[in-house]
Amino acid sequence: MRRLLLVCCLVIAMVAALMPAATANPHRKHREPRKDPVAIGRGGAVSTVDPTATAAGIKVLRRGGNAVDAAVAVAATLGVTEPYSAGIGGGGFMLVYLAESDEVVVIDGREEAPDDHRFDLDVFAEFADGGFFDAVNSGLSVGVPGTLATWVDALERYGTISLRQALRPGIRAARRGFIVDETFASQTEGNLERFRQITSTADTFLVDGEVPEVGSRFRNRDLARTYRQLARRGPEWFYGGELGEEVVETVQDPPTVANPAEEWQPGFMDIFDLADYEVQNLEPTQMEYQGYDVFGMPSPSSGGITVGETLNIIEDGTWSDPTGFYHLFLESTAHAFADRNAYIGDDRYVYVPQEAMLSEEFAAERFAQIDPNAASDKPVAPGNPCDEDGSTFCVPDPAAVDAAEGANTTHLVTADRYGNMVSYTLTIEQTGGSAITVPDRGFLLNNELTDFNFTGPSPNLPAPGKRPRSSMSPTIVLDDGEPFLAVGTPGGSTIITTVAQVLANRLGRDVPLPDAVEEPRATQRNTTDVVAEPAFIEQYGDGLTELGHTFEERDELGAVTAIERRRRGFLAVAEAVRRGGGDAGVVRPRHRHRR
Ligand code: GLU
Repeated sequence: MRRLLLVCCLVIAMVAALMPAATANPHRKHREPRKDPVAIGRGGAVSTVDPTATAAGIKVLRRGGNAVDAAVAVAATLGVTEPYSAGIGGGGFMLVYLAESDEVVVIDGREEAPDDHRFDLDVFAEFADGGFFDAVNSGLSVGVPGTLATWVDALERYGTISLRQALRPGIRAARRGFIVDETFASQTEGNLERFRQITSTADTFLVDGEVPEVGSRFRNRDLARTYRQLARRGPEWFYGGELGEEVVETVQDPPTVANPAEEWQPGFMDIFDLADYEVQNLEPTQMEYQGYDVFGMPSPSSGGITVGETLNIIEDGTWSDPTGFYHLFLESTAHAFADRNAYIGDDRYVYVPQEAMLSEEFAAERFAQIDPNAASDKPVAPGNPCDEDGSTFCVPDPAAVDAAEGANTTHLVTADRYGNMVSYTLTIEQTGGSAITVPDRGFLLNNELTDFNFTGPSPNLPAPGKRPRSSMSPTIVLDDGEPFLAVGTPGGSTIITTVAQVLANRLGRDVPLPDAVEEPRATQRNTTDVVAEPAFIEQYGDGLTELGHTFEERDELGAVTAIERRRRGFLAVAEAVRRGGGDAGVVRPRHRHRR
């Protein structure tokens, strides 16, 4: 009997050995890795939208790497697992709190317009009237990518590991693949028509022209090879080298199928644009809210100024109940958005009255225009920070409106045992960017240049070499000089209101961080209706409707990740539900926190 059992086992083992690896079968269903929306513990922390990326960051921290090392390793992994939101074909902004020098520094890796005279004021004018997606689906929308340059600059200045080491987890993830979840499948579905028109994109992201099945394993061998070669050849391979040539070729001649349904105009980017690309090392915006120092992203982002102005206005008010708080919040963001649209663009091209816009005097003026008992008529007019500023350059563009923006991107936060913290938002703009993949390279190119306003007046009109205005708002908060909170989110221009809402709840109302993240969201960006999640309308809609607010429902807003530094360790938080839930991790968990 025992011998029979042995023979059976042997036969089963032999059959198993002859079968293809389970992971090679695209139809085989796999379970998604576990995600924790909240983690508490010591030794360092990471929060991202994706468990593979979070695990990559935790591993770097566990081995003694710092928060910057972890952030780059996480970002490179997200380039694999979140290829429609992030990657070396895009750009982003990194804020770092450096414990050693006790300062917050900024790396601006925003995409840049090609330095070509044809990329002028009117370059998108023909798309202004309902043709937004024709501009998105084109080489014209592709900005010179800054993500790889950001990683290199961050590691060289503040990191302890090499680019090669930082790319390693991404290479592994691309080679081994990840399990397709509902979010990835539905993002692919949403892009199906345009992905099918670009041969390299269909080859990379579709399976026989269709959406990969939920539960199947998705590998990106091209990207694994690209990362490996990058590790070997260095960033010059991209910025001016052979890979750069391939990027340029792809932008100038998008690889469409024969007779594509759309036109796919060529872009102007050339190899010199790539060779000349440089990140900017900037000073963060800074303001004080409820005794905390809030550091944010300056121009070319509107994030730091607009979040800061909002918090300044809120601080001038009081409330006696949640309706009062949210009335003040919504009116504050509406006023701050009017100012954002009128005054903020790339400050190398237009004068941005940042200091005045962040002043308490200007906030007091704007607060005085808010009726505590009634919603104002939207759109509200921009204020005049120029009075505070005293500058003759400070001229508002009073009719300026919000540029159309996507609602995607990804945000990550890391913190280490040495006291450093990173808040990093990166993007390729729309989900799926321009839908153009560099052939055989496994990554999509951004459509960031559609963040320019297509017509004026606006401080955010296109120009050669200009960086389009962003809303990305990576934020770091210090409490009494000590790093306290790192937070951010994707979501196009709703990024600003989501970050402001989390900060106002956490810092202004003392709401615990997990609840501040879970709180139902609403966004008022100087439009007739407040765009709000169903739960927000259910919870606060009646009271706010009485004050004159009207609502438009949106399933969800943002995908926040945040880390709070506590006296003994860290509290890392990700979304429990939005965008399929994120994953928070710590190096040494204290206990599992369940909601
Ligand atoms: N392109 C947007 C910006 O820079 C971010 C994209 C998004 O979050 O949807 O503000």
